[in-house]
Amino acid sequence: MFHSRTLSIVAALFLTAAVFPQAASSRTSTLRIDCIFSGSCEGSRISLSSMSEAGPWAGRRRNMDKPPLRGNGQISLRDSESSEILYVNSFSTLFQEWLNTEEATKADKAFENVFLVPMPESEAVVRIELYDNRGGLAACGEFSVDPDDILIKKTRRQSAPHRYIMNNGSPQDKIDLAIVAEGYTADEAELFYEDAEAAAGSIFSHSPFKELSDRFNVVAVALPSQDSGVSIPHDGIWKDSALGSHFDTFYSERYLTTLDLFDLHDALAGIPYEHIIILANTDTYGGGGIFNSYLLSAAHNEWTAPVIVHEFGHSFAGLADEYFYDDQFTEYYYPDAEPWEQNITTLKDFSLKWQDMTEAGCAPISKETQLADPDGWAGAPGRFKVGLYEGAGYQSEGVYRGFPECRMKINDWPSFCPICERAIRRIIEFYTE
Ligand SMILES: [Zn+2]
Repeated sequence: MFHSRTLSIVAALFLTAAVFPQAASSRTSTLRIDCIFSGSCEGSRISLSSMSEAGPWAGRRRNMDKPPLRGNGQISLRDSESSEILYVNSFSTLFQEWLNTEEATKADKAFENVFLVPMPESEAVVRIELYDNRGGLAACGEFSVDPDDILIKKTRRQSAPHRYIMNNGSPQDKIDLAIVAEGYTADEAELFYEDAEAAAGSIFSHSPFKELSDRFNVVAVALPSQDSGVSIPHDGIWKDSALGSHFDTFYSERYLTTLDLFDLHDALAGIPYEHIIILANTDTYGGGGIFNSYLLSAAHNEWTAPVIVHEFGHSFAGLADEYFYDDQFTEYYYPDAEPWEQNITTLKDFSLKWQDMTEAGCAPISKETQLADPDGWAGAPGRFKVGLYEGAGYQSEGVYRGFPECRMKINDWPSFCPICERAIRRIIEFYTE
């Protein structure tokens, strides 16, 4: 297991600046940090690949010194001299998902990751932490940033063709979503813009996005690909698409992702963005969403609309899957650790979740009860009650969801459950209030 030198924590609480971190100034530019996370289930390593200056800062200007959620990892930026925390964000990675696969018991692999932070005004320390399934520190890395370093790249790339779908104000004040084309040729740009409008329409037809839509900007980026379509390895199909995405990620047929994070962020050069939605020009069912990294979804099948919203639940709000399997091999959640995802609980610390939305003494409804009485256990859909329903986060036992059905559980349910709705609302407020 890789650990960089331990940070000596000097709490500089006597400094006003440390207690009330200032918002990034309107002139602040973005520091893009390209990293490689590598290793196996034996241990992980975080390596810096390069740093570059990437346009004006479009990220949040409030709550800079705390993460929106705990996440599976965090990045922080701290002033070298005063130790003031300048920025913190949380995330999940495909690398950490891969560490849970059988392949990670036999091989050592490397994954690209990109982080955007506000450019510090003087020397600062970047710290990246990765957590294990119990929330313990699994790896960390630290490196310093000097904003005057001549090797921070200042390449100005030409922006890909793009069009605003929703423009509600300055990127400084809004949550900026970029919808990126994958597997669309230059001739298919109009098809992509139609698909991007439909994708945004699906997201903003769901509460609470619907009511808070004026806090978002949405830009569609028609990144051209050489070939039309994306790679489907289980059918032997490989395409030359701009982001090299493919199905069968970690040998799971419907798991459609891209590992080319450097290319993805290169494609967004010159466009303000914070959250990324990738639409794949395919009618094969699939997708994936990684918290504060991106979501990728097939654009053309009967489930495209709900899948995009489901994956956005992962990538934007860090929501867990509420479905479960009876024969799940990997354990992701343990009874002695409360998951950080807001829509599931192991009951280790239910008070941190939706306990306040339940009746006092609310008893869990076991999986057996749910199976034995499929019509009676939860009442009719219109009368579903918030409670504790066993089965969530891929596990049929020991993990609970708060509502019988939800967008994070099945595609043919029309909305987020009340727990997810509140969690999403809190994230939007965290970014914008
Ligand atoms: Zn839910």
